Parts: sequence; C-alpha cells; structure tokens
Amino acid sequence: MGALALYAKYPVLPDARDWLRTEGPKLDALLTDFLYAQARDRARERVWSALRRNDEEDPPVFLSEVEEEMELVSHPLARMLVAAVDEALLARRFAVAESKRLSKLLEREPGETVSAVARTFDIPFARGGPDEEHDFGLHFTEYLARAPNEKAWKLVKRDLVKGHVWLAKDDFVRLCEEVYKRRLEDELQDRQGQVPTVFREVFQSAITRLKQETERLAAEYKEAGFAEVDQERFPPCIRRILTDMHNHVNIPHMGRFAVVTFLHTLGMDADGILRFFSSVPDFDPEKSRYQIEHITGKGGPTEYTPPGCGTMQTYGVCPLEERDTICSDIKHPLAYYRKALWMKERNIPMPGETKEDAAQAKEATAAKSGDSAKKGETDKKPKAKPVANKEAAR
Ligand code: SF4
Repeated sequence: MGALALYAKYPVLPDARDWLRTEGPKLDALLTDFLYAQARDRARERVWSALRRNDEEDPPVFLSEVEEEMELVSHPLARMLVAAVDEALLARRFAVAESKRLSKLLEREPGETVSAVARTFDIPFARGGPDEEHDFGLHFTEYLARAPNEKAWKLVKRDLVKGHVWLAKDDFVRLCEEVYKRRLEDELQDRQGQVPTVFREVFQSAITRLKQETERLAAEYKEAGFAEVDQERFPPCIRRILTDMHNHVNIPHMGRFAVVTFLHTLGMDADGILRFFSSVPDFDPEKSRYQIEHITGKGGPTEYTPPGCGTMQTYGVCPLEERDTICSDIKHPLAYYRKALWMKERNIPMPGETKEDAAQAKEATAAKSGDSAKKGETDKKPKAKPVANKEAAR
C-alpha cells in the first residue's frame, strides 16, 4: 500500500497530517479550485452519510492516486462542515460514523498498522501477550479509562496478568474506535461554529440544509415523548441508560428491557420508545420494533413490567455509585419516579437540589402546562398505567 493510500484511510496518522500541511493543497484551492470539486463532494457525502447513519457502507476502494488524495483532503473539509453546522447531534453522529469507519478498516490490517493508529490516540499499550491471540495489553487503569461502557467490557470479564488486560486484535480495534469517537467528538465540540468565512460562503447551501435536517431530527426525538414525561425525575438507573443511549454507548439487554418497560408503564407507545432506541450504535429498526412490541405486549401475549431494584442490581444496570437518598427508601425505579414527582408537587428539593431549585422546577412545569393549554394542544398526553406486578407496586 502506497503512503497516500494509507493516509486516505487513516487521516489521523501524524504522517498524513504532515503531508496535508507540507504537500497538500492550500485552503483557497481546496475550496474553489475545479480540481478539488470531487473532494468537496466527498466531504458533503461523508457528513450526510453520518447524519443519516449510513455506516453500513463499505469503506472506499481507491483506483488512483487522485482518488486517494481526494479522500484524504475530504476529511478536514468534512470536519469543518460539521463545525460550521454547529449542532451537537451532528457532531456526535459524525464522530460515531468516522470511528466506525476507522474500525472497519483497521480490522483488515496487520498488527503494525493497528499499533500505529493506536499510538496516534495516545493509548499506552504493549505488544506480546500471554498467548498468540491476545497480543495487545493495557494496564487495567488505562483499560478502564478507555473501554466502551458495555457489559462485555467490564473488568470482571477480563483476565488480568500482572495488572494488565490482554486483548485480541479485534477487541483492541474496538477500543481504538471508542477512543477515537470520544476524542473526535470533543474536538468537534471545541470547534463548533469556528470556521473561516470563505468556507461558509462555499458550503453555505450544505450548511443550511444539514442544519435544517439536524434540527428536524432533534425535534422528532422531542415529539416522540421526551417532553411528555418528566425526565428530570427519572431514577438514576433510567437516566444513566438514556444518557448512554444518546452518547451512542451500547446498552446491555437488561438495560434496554428496563427502559422499554419503564417508559411503556408511563404510557409511551412503541413508536415513541423506538425513537429512544434509534440513537443506539447497533440500531436496527426492524429488530428493535419487534423487540419493543414484544416487550410491550403489542406483538405477543405478555405485557412485561419493569424490573425492580434487586433485579437491576443483579444484572449490573443499577449504577451503584449514582444512587441517591431516594434510592435507599424504595425498591423499584417506578416508586422512585412517583416519589420524585410527589416531592416536586410539594416543592421538596431532590437530592443535591436547593429549595430555590425545587420551586423553580415546579414553576417551570406550571408555565409549560399553561403554555400548552393556551395553545389549545390536543395531543394526547400519556397517562401512567396502573402498575401490574407486585414488585413494581411497592
Ligand atoms: S436503587 Fe433502584 S431506582 Fe435507584 S438507581 Fe438503582 S435500580 Fe434505579
């Protein structure tokens, strides 16, 4: 593989960045020269594809040096485009798409290339593990700081050898993906809105359309039900699962089951719940709809109810360190939600809140319902269903 082909695949490599700085085109040429029209198109395509989550598309095959160069220079252009649109949802999706792309490419590479990319991300690792398969090792503290927040990645699932976790190449590549995603998202957030005027002028139409589409998607989430339940009063476990979902962290099966049954019991329908799941990295609309309809009783004989705190703890989806004083008084996440709403009604501060915060939260809710009434909204508000199982009723 020639150097340019390598850089086109991995524009994060220091050598690729050096090439762009020393041999690549100047920004003016990149933005206006006919020769780089293909790179500008590719940058737009990269960002649209990320927003639409077309991450199943195969990594490109390059037929010539020109194509390699276009692919390489499209990367900084795409990043600038995301920064110009200045929407957190787009930045997040772009980071997910680019990191998945990197991961797909790295899976096919020899260990040396994987190592070169990992060094770019400042991952302190060693080679030469206890056996041939587990060739990439990290001290367990470094592992914990970088591992994906998924059950399979918990430290207890790994063998420790003298304080080190040794991973097979595919797992190490997955860890690189996670590090790159976090890093890219941070960098994009820092650069939001900061692009040269000349860039804005050239990409104005794409910026406007991407912004509209991102806002439309964000509004869809809201309409799907986030505004209809009081998320601030959700228990720590459900908040943690939802936050992880929106940060594109994979959720274990019990976490998905808990959040679906919890939201369903609050009155949210399958379509609303499906929206929550659509931001999960391995989201599959067909499969998710089937699972949600099965759990909520629409597609099967049983309507499941949310698991209690004991079950949540057994399955590792109760975030022990995030529990608060309400948690110690209840045995079920629904009981937490009911108690938190009861406290809100009476201006009783939530754990960590002041009296003023509690009063403001109540006023905000009252103002919101007043607004809705004034607008004569006819949308059906979901009503909390009676809790069917005994465990949930506690
Ligand atoms: S104790 Fe119960 S309500 Fe609190 S975080 Fe754990 S599972 Fe959720």
